[in-house]
Amino acid sequence: MTTSEHSRTTRLITSGRDANDNSLAHPVWPSSVWASPDFDTARAKATALRSPEFYGRHANPTVGAFESAIAELEGAEAALAFGSGMGAFASTVLALCSSGSHIVAARQIYSGCLSFLQGPCRRLGIDVTMVDGTAPGAFATAVEPGRTMLVIAETPSNPMTELVDLAEFGKVGGPFTMVDSTFATPLAQRPLEFGVDIVLHSATKGIAGHNDATIGVIASEAELIDTIWSYSIMHGAVASPSDAHSALRGVRTLGVRTAQQAATAHELAAWLESQNEVARVLYPGLASHPQHDIARSQMDTYGTVVAFDLVGGVDAARSLIDRVELIRRATSLGGPETMICHPASTTHAGLTDDERAVTGVTDGLIRMTVGLESPDDLIADLAWR
Ligand SMILES: *Cc1c(COP(=O)(O)O)cnc(C)c1O
Repeated sequence: MTTSEHSRTTRLITSGRDANDNSLAHPVWPSSVWASPDFDTARAKATALRSPEFYGRHANPTVGAFESAIAELEGAEAALAFGSGMGAFASTVLALCSSGSHIVAARQIYSGCLSFLQGPCRRLGIDVTMVDGTAPGAFATAVEPGRTMLVIAETPSNPMTELVDLAEFGKVGGPFTMVDSTFATPLAQRPLEFGVDIVLHSATKGIAGHNDATIGVIASEAELIDTIWSYSIMHGAVASPSDAHSALRGVRTLGVRTAQQAATAHELAAWLESQNEVARVLYPGLASHPQHDIARSQMDTYGTVVAFDLVGGVDAARSLIDRVELIRRATSLGGPETMICHPASTTHAGLTDDERAVTGVTDGLIRMTVGLESPDDLIADLAWR
């Protein structure tokens, strides 16, 4: 059986087996409801927190196995899965904040999270201050003691792979701090070890890892997870058992997949840096990355996302995106297929020119999310002739 002395690589294999250890494949429990043997058990299940066999919106054994694996890998007491990364984000924000609450968030967060803070949160009277997550002291300066409830960061960020210094962020007095660690996965970095309160993943990406599941997860202290759970059963963004099954299967191979993808991403980033058509490459593993020292201090591998700026601007971006044959024109990450996208006309199309200038998303910027193909074939697909 698993012990805490085992390496994280081994614990990818041994975690999430509490409910069944003899079947090496974990079962999918599709049931949305469980029967009780008598009156007292029915009452106990209905009134307990997170009763494992009561009703599907409250808990499910397959989802529970995935949650326990993520908690173990993040070094957390507990985890809670949701129907998507956005389900995790929205449920957590609304569980902790009310009208009059104040949130501090890095401007470098996922566009859906940003829209949620700027739209529904403001409409509900939750005040949001955006800061530059790469600026030393920016979060702490924006916190208003007594009014601030939640401080939110994402690292590495989309699409520029900008980093938040976790050693500094973990000391910010939220009262609650949360890091979206999707681009890193629990293998590349563990924000809770730096004192961050909540770590969030869109497990749709690297954790599930095969572009066949939509699921989100948070990990934290048990008490905080119980509080968020109590809200989440009303919010209803529950993870499906079959997606939790896919995500837990993804956990088993996360180590080999992320190691291979990060090695390929590093090789492609270095190759891109040597090309005349490329003005700049952003990858946390490159010595030229403006925050490479922070990457080295807090990440075990440097992720699977490479951003690069083309000398030829939007025309060069269009021509590259239209001519690749192996690389897929799609917007996600963490799966087997390498994908390419043009943030200025897709993920960041809704921004004004001024807003886009602040994010650094130029007309020639390309985001590539690296899959499991051979690096030589990917280079041949990208190569300018
Ligand atoms: C995809 C993504 C999300 C949202 O997750 P969904 O599963 O698509 O809802 C949040 N944060 C980051 C960094 C993401 O890449």
